Amino acid sequence: MADQPGGGGRPRVQTVNPATGEPGKAYDAHTIEDARAAAAEAHEAFLSWRRTSFAERAAVIRKAGAILRERKDEFARLMTEEMGKTLSDGQAEVEKCAFHCDWFAEHAEGYLAREPADLGHGEAFVTFNPLGVVLAVMPWNFPFWQVMRFAVPALMAGNGGLLKHASNVPGSALAIEEVLLQAGLPKGLFRTLLLSSRDVEALIEDEHVGAVTLTGSVPAGRSVATAAGGVLKKCVLELGGADPYVVLEDVDVAAAARICATARMVNGGQSCIAGKRFIVVRPVLEAFERAVVEAMRGYPMGDPTRPETKLGPMQSVQARDDIHRQVTESVQRGARLLLGGEIPDRPGAWYPATVLADVRPGQPAHDEEVFGPVAAIIAAEDEADAIRIANASEFGLGSGVLTADLDRGRRITAKELEAGMSFVNENVRSDPRMPFGGVKHSGFGRECGQYGIREFVNIKTVHVQTLAKARGSSVE
Ligand code: NAP
Repeated sequence: MADQPGGGGRPRVQTVNPATGEPGKAYDAHTIEDARAAAAEAHEAFLSWRRTSFAERAAVIRKAGAILRERKDEFARLMTEEMGKTLSDGQAEVEKCAFHCDWFAEHAEGYLAREPADLGHGEAFVTFNPLGVVLAVMPWNFPFWQVMRFAVPALMAGNGGLLKHASNVPGSALAIEEVLLQAGLPKGLFRTLLLSSRDVEALIEDEHVGAVTLTGSVPAGRSVATAAGGVLKKCVLELGGADPYVVLEDVDVAAAARICATARMVNGGQSCIAGKRFIVVRPVLEAFERAVVEAMRGYPMGDPTRPETKLGPMQSVQARDDIHRQVTESVQRGARLLLGGEIPDRPGAWYPATVLADVRPGQPAHDEEVFGPVAAIIAAEDEADAIRIANASEFGLGSGVLTADLDRGRRITAKELEAGMSFVNENVRSDPRMPFGGVKHSGFGRECGQYGIREFVNIKTVHVQTLAKARGSSVE
């Protein structure tokens, strides 16, 4: 992942297979000058693309979906090699991207249809026009899905795109550009830039970049939002999460524990939206601890290329070491280690499924986002106390409630939990058809669904009146 000078003097981006620690392919990086030239080219292409019909754009995006399906196994393998995702998770991810292409090819026109307004005189409507070239700074954890989640609606709305992907997934980043080109997207409209994060601020300031979106950590979000604010450009942020699950006394404990383990172990625990804090009321606490340990034992570490493997390596040794520090510090400060918590003696970035009980404020497992396969169990006195603990977090991305009483579940998810998404008796996840995003330090703005596609458009008011009936107003 380190930048190294290549033969031609250009920096190189070196990949490392997290399962083995072995170096993989290396790629020539782009410079800020390359990026500025790409931004100008994307803007030029945008000026024509914005005038294409929805039907023309949909044909390209549908084709991109078809190519993704055809090349699913190849792309899944690429993700496994670059960031350690299991092959089966990678295949599912590419399928999801293809469904997303189909969904927006079908629905973008409806989502962005002109909206008439009856003001009692003349004609008025709202129309949705593209903003220009959108710069996307993306994370490695879902190398295809995170990018397509932004790119497909943005392109269907008539925008162009520039991708600065995480530096450990350059092959995936280039493959996405290739798929879009192969599908018939005009040359230059969407470009992948293997750019250092140090150059992002300068690119945001470039005159040909119209808006920016970042999916990643809070510090990266802060730095991108500051740069975008400095030049007054629209910005969407999808940041971290410490999703709480409230476990109530009326649950079937074994079923609840299975849902919690599934929610925690998405992508080896390396998902922004994933059950991370399990807040359990006392009457079912002990039984839940035992059941979660049992459920988490169902995720042994294994070769990510084997179809039966449910937990592969972490994305890097550095990331694995960060997770281990959070676990050991939590134990030093009073957490009880019920499962896992030891780094295995083998090459690669391995970390086992881990369960911590007695998690409290002051421990990293309570106060920070743990981006790995670590379930943190927190005791609560009752429902109100559990909701209070759930909301006492800097984050507000996903959340959930486990209860046999669906009315209780509806009330708590709809009204009580401070989060962008809330689930009753299900594991947290994104869906192309539903808005996705967070509150508090989990970010602002939305992706997916009608709300997502309307982020990178000019929501424009139009009034039309005949000259004879024109009348002014002195109020702004
Ligand atoms: P990260 O370090 O913030 O990296 C994400 C992207 O931002 C990468 O492309 C990275 O480039 C770039 N970047 C890092 N620092 C930057 C800066 N100062 N200025 C501009 N760009 C910068 O995130 P990560 O730790 O790899 O990813 C995990 C985090 O992402 C977690 O917090 C997770 O919850 C969050 N996430 C959120 C969502 C969501 O939808 N809400 C989805 C997935 C992940 P380099 O790789 O070159 O450093």
